[in-house]
Amino acid sequence: MSGALLAGIEAGGTKFVCGVARSPTDILKSVTIPTTTPLQTIALVESFFRAASAEFGPISALGVASFGPLDLDPASPAHGSITTTPKAGWSGFNLMAALVAALNCPAAIDTDVTGSGLAEATYGAGRGFDRLAYLTIGTGVGGALIVGGAPLHRLSHPEMGHIPVRRRADDADFAGICSFHGDCVEGLVSGPAVLARYGRRLSDLDAGSPAWAILADYIAQLCLSILLISTPGRVILGGGVMSNPALYPLIRAELLRLNNGYLTRLADAGDAEHLIAAPGLGDRAGLIGAMLLAQLATPGPNLS
Ligand code: ZN
Repeated sequence: MSGALLAGIEAGGTKFVCGVARSPTDILKSVTIPTTTPLQTIALVESFFRAASAEFGPISALGVASFGPLDLDPASPAHGSITTTPKAGWSGFNLMAALVAALNCPAAIDTDVTGSGLAEATYGAGRGFDRLAYLTIGTGVGGALIVGGAPLHRLSHPEMGHIPVRRRADDADFAGICSFHGDCVEGLVSGPAVLARYGRRLSDLDAGSPAWAILADYIAQLCLSILLISTPGRVILGGGVMSNPALYPLIRAELLRLNNGYLTRLADAGDAEHLIAAPGLGDRAGLIGAMLLAQLATPGPNLS
């Protein structure tokens, strides 16, 4: 493994960040490519990796942490394709197949959320937890479960952001913005939901706004559902909405109230502080996660 070269792509709707590394956190070289048409974007990705390979040696495996939604069913003929997206030209595009054809190496693809979750579990705020839940609350609400250092899913990735929640009386007038469900968690707490309800971002709302208590309530409900269903040792909350540090103590207090002593490991403020955490890696999580996916895809005697 010492000579192996990992290739990673953090594939987003506005940019692709590509890099090569000897180990997931040891990025040798990276580039940011704007997301335009699939063919144009893949051509630039391919030329970066060809140049990197000429400089550092052959690529042993590729990991892709991508925007979605993605077809991740290993038995599906469309495995690795982006299913439905408003991003023009990308719906139905098989990103994985195009990259494998371009780079001809073992590869693994997963969601950007799962990539960041893997990175946090391995190097960040989730280190030391065998079961970790990672949520991103931003443009949308996405979630990942990492168990024993690998993502937990099969037919699809988790869709925790679309869980329904109990509505608050002081928020009853807002219908929610999820185009499928209206008032699922994503429809109520994502960045666009905050904008639709209050006309500004959470960070531009003062401390007296009801938005803080409303968001904390719905996010705490989501956290409790995840704790009850999948028993993670920690839930990491990331994403643009969670870049407001004042939300964390509100969510922890609400979670304690909702749990009401039922889960004994969530008995007091110290427990809530331990369970609900901010990410530790910041913007680095995406590319590190892609490298970890490449490592999972790497064939080698250490894996057999
Ligand atoms: Zn929804």
